[in-house]
Amino acid sequence: MTRVHADVATAAQSYDRAAQDVTLIAVSKTFDAAAIRPVLEAGQRVFGENRVQEAQGKWPALREDFPGTELHLIGPLQSNKAKDAVALFDVIHTVDREKIAKALRSEMEKADRELPVFIQINTGAEPQKAGVAPSDAPDFISYCIDDLKLDVAGLMCIPPIDDTAAIHFGFLATLAERHGLAGLSMGMSADYETAIQFGATHVRVGSAIFGARTPPAK
Ligand SMILES: *Cc1c(COP(=O)(O)O)cnc(C)c1O
Repeated sequence: MTRVHADVATAAQSYDRAAQDVTLIAVSKTFDAAAIRPVLEAGQRVFGENRVQEAQGKWPALREDFPGTELHLIGPLQSNKAKDAVALFDVIHTVDREKIAKALRSEMEKADRELPVFIQINTGAEPQKAGVAPSDAPDFISYCIDDLKLDVAGLMCIPPIDDTAAIHFGFLATLAERHGLAGLSMGMSADYETAIQFGATHVRVGSAIFGARTPPAK
């Protein structure tokens, strides 16, 4: 944990960025409360989970012991889980279609709770992957900001596994800049330093902090 924290700060410095401009999200998916507790005790207060139900099982109790902990949803969201997601999470990184955007708008209104969101872009246009197709991105971003008045913090991507991540990070940064969006949620254990070089404001790091996941979860 401490090592990853130091590495994020070092990477930021070497690319002329302020360390506090890069938020390290510790991705605790598949790990139980006993594994998460030491990371909280080490001072980490921003965590990412990819499943609403799994997060509901472990975070309410952990948060009682560690108030002020911020929880980010980094996995795909189903509209029937939007209400629970709005109640539990502080930031949603995976808005990628009209149905989800609308469900979030409506649940946030009902809960009187406004969450910052990231729009997920399928930068590699991979058929099996979540995210807005790059060609649909400009319209969808405008729809979320202008029509739904969502608090769009920025863009998020997960580069194709067999591609050079830097190309996707660079593309996402350009797209965000074009829309005047400051936030960039990009970079995981294998490539967070590269992501920081390309302007990441939020890196999502799991295995480098918690160790390998067994069984592997997506
Ligand atoms: C699991 C996951 C991560 C963390 O992956 P690591 O390679 O373990 O760092 C980051 N982002 C998303 C969307 C994930 O699902």
